[in-house]
Amino acid sequence: MSKTLSQLGEFGLIDRLKKLLPQEGGCLLGIGDDTAVLPYTKDKYQLLTTDMLAQDVHFTRRMDARAIGHKALAVNISDIAAMGGVPTFAVVSIGLPKTTPVRFVEDVYKGMTALAGQFNVSIVGGDTIKSDKIVINVALLGEVKKKHLVTRAGAKPKDWIFVTGPLGGSLKSGRHLNFIPCVEQARFLVKNYKPSAMMDISDGLAGDLNHILSAAKVGAQLIEDAIPRHKGTTLNQAMTDGEDFELLFTIPMAKAMKLMDWQADHKAFYFYPIGEITADAKQRIYAKGFTHF
Ligand SMILES: [Mg+2]
Repeated sequence: MSKTLSQLGEFGLIDRLKKLLPQEGGCLLGIGDDTAVLPYTKDKYQLLTTDMLAQDVHFTRRMDARAIGHKALAVNISDIAAMGGVPTFAVVSIGLPKTTPVRFVEDVYKGMTALAGQFNVSIVGGDTIKSDKIVINVALLGEVKKKHLVTRAGAKPKDWIFVTGPLGGSLKSGRHLNFIPCVEQARFLVKNYKPSAMMDISDGLAGDLNHILSAAKVGAQLIEDAIPRHKGTTLNQAMTDGEDFELLFTIPMAKAMKLMDWQADHKAFYFYPIGEITADAKQRIYAKGFTHF
């Protein structure tokens, strides 16, 4: 009998589908990173990503429609940021029940276009269909200079591990609906202190760090007290709560120390060092007082 989706899990399903999709057309990086990386110009790659939000899974009708629109685009921009790129063009597809108030739909788009304006993203098309519940899908293009591209692979032993901001409690606090994607921070990093690996934290620090570790067959030692967390959240929540959309990245030690010097005198950004990469891939994530990952 065929397995059901709940038996297989999200990542199991992605692995199965991956086998059905040969990489073609010169695609440089397909499934398994924050975005696909495609051929573009002599010195740039094109980035392509998509994310879908569904009513009662990612949002409810009682939430602010503008915030839902904001989030639908923001999660995609966050993935472009995670590659070191800038977002450019988006298409938006939306499935709507017949009974949806027009105002609700307009507000979703207002939330989206406000954020699009802030990041110079042009929404250039899409599709609308009738559906039982509201679904919103955004597909977003971006671009990145070849020399600025950062993937999830590439962390090396002794690299320092950083995050761009405090973690934990995003869903409970509603921050997942109004976060600003870390494009500026990522652009600053790739131009000045290029990370060896980077991704955005969507599923929680522990799970997402594991993607970076398994991509490079390395482990990590975290400094428990150094992990920045939002007020009122525990270490465990900071490690496992999803939807923070901060960036998680690694930088070779010498460069990381220069970054620490820089940020001692500058206030534009602050990057939190939370530990280092180790050679022991079996150890995976180790943090004192914290063993389950
Ligand atoms: Mg991501």
